[in-house]
Amino acid sequence: MIRLEVLGPHTQLLSTLCAKCPQGPAGCCKAPPEVDWSDVGRIVAGGGRDFVLARIAAKELIPTERGLVIRRVKRREAKTEPMERKCVFHGALGCTIRPGLRPATCNYFLCEDTFVEGGERKGEANAARARQAHGALRAAYEQWDAELSAQIAVKYPEGASWNAEFLDWLGEAFVELEASLPLAPLG
Ligand code: SF4
Ligand code: SF4
Repeated sequence: MIRLEVLGPHTQLLSTLCAKCPQGPAGCCKAPPEVDWSDVGRIVAGGGRDFVLARIAAKELIPTERGLVIRRVKRREAKTEPMERKCVFHGALGCTIRPGLRPATCNYFLCEDTFVEGGERKGEANAARARQAHGALRAAYEQWDAELSAQIAVKYPEGASWNAEFLDWLGEAFVELEASLPLAPLG
């Protein structure tokens, strides 16, 4: 079954299949998405600036030319489980950080198996809404990311400085973009 929590850019798409993921205990958290500029901006706008700085200092978030990547670690949460290389933020009960601190992809991505289990082919309304929301969110984040990349290239030609001033600017730039290039209605 698929469930939607429609909250604009913070929308979450949830599937009951994830609790018994065919990919193993860590599911798709074995391959965490990148934290793009649009993700960093959204996280900071939601009050996560100090989280970002602390996690960079702890080397759990690693700066790149396109934003941040999340460190992967090899571990298992129980002796009965296999060792897995997975996102540093994944724990025994799933993700250990709140949705507002994750890359948006973590919140809106669902694999094809979930749409099958959610009855998309049988016309389940929630599956159809989730498919539409997934497409709209991905398109919006791609556009916001491209815009922020262009702004960063102009404002920080030497590359981003990963400090409070840069992050505050990025958070404000994200809020402005969200207003000028709004997300399509998600239903
Ligand atoms: S979205 Fe798919 S791959 Fe990811 S945890 Fe859920 S069932 Fe597993
Ligand atoms: S941030 Fe959370 S949801 Fe995203 S990959 Fe890591 S553990 Fe999974």
